[in-house]
Amino acid sequence: MKAIVKTSRTRGASYRDAEVPVITKDELLVRVTAASISPGDLAIFNHAGPGFATPTLPFIFGQEFCGEVVEIGSQAKGFDKGDFVSVESHVFCGVCGQCRNDQRHICQNLRVIGRDLQGGFAEYAAVPARCAWKHSDSSLKDIGPVMEPFGSAVHAVLSEDLVGRTVLISGCAPHGLFAAGIAKAAGAKRVVAVDASAYRRKLALKMGADTAIDPSDKTCLSGLSKFCGPEGADAVIEMSGAQKAVALGLKALRPGGRFVAFGLPVTDISLDYAGDIVKRGLRLEGVAGREIFRSWYKMESLLKSGAVDPRPAITHTFAFKDFKKAFALINSKDKKCGKVILKP
Ligand SMILES: [Zn+2]
Repeated sequence: MKAIVKTSRTRGASYRDAEVPVITKDELLVRVTAASISPGDLAIFNHAGPGFATPTLPFIFGQEFCGEVVEIGSQAKGFDKGDFVSVESHVFCGVCGQCRNDQRHICQNLRVIGRDLQGGFAEYAAVPARCAWKHSDSSLKDIGPVMEPFGSAVHAVLSEDLVGRTVLISGCAPHGLFAAGIAKAAGAKRVVAVDASAYRRKLALKMGADTAIDPSDKTCLSGLSKFCGPEGADAVIEMSGAQKAVALGLKALRPGGRFVAFGLPVTDISLDYAGDIVKRGLRLEGVAGREIFRSWYKMESLLKSGAVDPRPAITHTFAFKDFKKAFALINSKDKKCGKVILKP
């Protein structure tokens, strides 16, 4: 089969032949129909960036993908050949304290497909059956690969009631774009998006944000105060991991508000712990991945009901063989893209 493979400890990757995976008894062999590029994939391609860890080479990466089940391990129950599945990349152990307390997404023995295990930038991928989400029909086929990042945004946004609340989305890369749509669908009174890219601010408006603000604009703070009200935003969903964005988000939040930390920083973030958090009674919530599978049920409902349409955030599709063009687009300074999809 053909695959996008990391072959050296330098920036880049190769499109080349690879062996079709041999599945174990609890795995499915999935014929990949589409994959999308995640921040983790970008870090592996760039050989640098938030959360980057060198995989064992050669390594097929790709965390977000979907496809058709073509082979089923002897112990993998509940699937038939031809089933259309999206993949949950967080492979949980099922027996640790977190797993037994319904927190599989932060399993103590977590392994991630496309980071610790071979991924989906290939014609075929081996997927543990417990990490496959079987679609009941083909209505979400075109957005199959983005179920995973969309689910992360669902988890980040919906862990608290947002009806009538003012929400600031900090960072409008795909996770932030999805979050804008989800917050609006959840009944937020006002959704304010912040991003330096004019292209992505436009996408945020298409996704349902009421306004989109450039953080480098001198009137940014007064703009935030105009849209969030003088008391500040009720919730900040921080998707960028950038120091300046975190500082701005903390400033924009009202006392007692909820700060959701999702974006991964490249270096440690410094903040006024006492002044910004303790004395203002802020609630800081770290979000990693999706609740397995609670977030998936929520997103299926949001997507099938039409409450949120993620399609405006999906802006480009490339063939696997043209993957370098896709990564160049995401790496470009002006970020004229939303979610980028790759197809075999
Ligand atoms: Zn576990």
